[in-house]
Amino acid sequence: MPLDVRNELDLSAWWMPFTANRQFKTAPRLFASASGVTYRMADGQAVLDGTAGLWCVNAGHGRPEIADAVHHQLMELDYAPPFQLGHSLAFELAAKLARLAPAGLDRVFFTNSGSESVETALKIAFAYHRARGEGQRTKLVGRERGYHGVNFGGMSVGGLVNNRRMFPAMPYVHHLAQTHLPKRNGFSVGQPEHGAELADELERMALLHGGETIAAVIVEPVVGSGGVLPPPKGYLERLRAICDKHGILLIFDEVITGFGRVGAPFATQRLGVTPDIMTTAKGVTNGVVPMGAVFASRQIHDAFMQGPPEAIEFFHGYTYSGHPVACAAALATLDIYEREGLLTRVLELEGAWAEAIHGLRGSPHVTDIRNFGLMGAIDLAPRPGAPGARGYAALLGGLANGLLLRASGDTLAFSPPLIVSADQIGEIFEIVGKVLKTID
Ligand code: PLP
Repeated sequence: MPLDVRNELDLSAWWMPFTANRQFKTAPRLFASASGVTYRMADGQAVLDGTAGLWCVNAGHGRPEIADAVHHQLMELDYAPPFQLGHSLAFELAAKLARLAPAGLDRVFFTNSGSESVETALKIAFAYHRARGEGQRTKLVGRERGYHGVNFGGMSVGGLVNNRRMFPAMPYVHHLAQTHLPKRNGFSVGQPEHGAELADELERMALLHGGETIAAVIVEPVVGSGGVLPPPKGYLERLRAICDKHGILLIFDEVITGFGRVGAPFATQRLGVTPDIMTTAKGVTNGVVPMGAVFASRQIHDAFMQGPPEAIEFFHGYTYSGHPVACAAALATLDIYEREGLLTRVLELEGAWAEAIHGLRGSPHVTDIRNFGLMGAIDLAPRPGAPGARGYAALLGGLANGLLLRASGDTLAFSPPLIVSADQIGEIFEIVGKVLKTID
């Protein structure tokens, strides 16, 4: 029997995140179960998961191997404090992750979310410079349209206005220009041709502020929440070169792009540009247990390992860093990724993916379409005077027609689990095409 949500559930107490609470509670949309690439809603409706939950369920839903590993771990060692003590799974997982990462980026710090990974990365950057006698590097550079979570550091380097306007941001943070150039790069398939020169703003900042005062630059190699913006060809290479010239650390936020989303374990490998620090979360446990991992270069890590060996080198960490249950989930997840070839499967799918999403060019309201790996976005023209309303209508239309898509303002974003079939990809965009014809 489907749940009668409004009569059986008190919806008032949960203050929901990033949600129009009052609107939601008048017409709640509740998930009930999930398996493979399909959710079932509380009203019984089956819904194709076009977003891998929230860019995280890369191996698909309801994987018994992960459930078994979590259950076993809960009964074996449910919790262990990670300060001055440890347990073997965290070391095993860190070693496994280090083998997946690009050469040299092989020291791993565990967190519980993408936001915590970003805060950790920024703190590593500041502390690294101090450890080397460069404590004057107090500035950070982010980018417009970037999303790096919601804690103070990540919010400050982030570039989404609604996430920033209500809160005081950190001082000494500057932003590069965003890279979406629809007039020059509209409807690009994969990386756009134009815009590498936008990275040169970092050089201008270095000249204005003094390159030796900038600690780090943080960008998503492919922007996710800000609207799926693949980097213009040559852009990341230029950013890397300017960072090297001025001794600035380059941080890639791979919370979305990590774990196979773009056809390689991490986007850095697909794009051929290696950062000094890399943040991850989401797909590390297939989204089923909160966990994040920050990868630092050997050089950065070793700069901390100075002084007397009994001294704590980095005064930072979380009660749940390397939580045994999260580690068990992550190890089982990585086994699935490896066994099923999911970290590179997107290379086989992305041709069909690109064709299907770009097939909607010319559909009502569509002003731009972008794709990279198994990520895609469709920009809709906003309704006059009502930004976001059309995107929201598309979200509702998708659900009514059996598809979960993500609406961020008037941009629709897509990122299904990496186990999706070519037929299901066709189905996703068939539904989107239908929805676009029905919404006004
Ligand atoms: N960084 C990026 C690139 C993200 O996409 C996200 C979440 O979507 C975060 C950080 C924050 O992750 P979390 O919501 O787990 O804190």
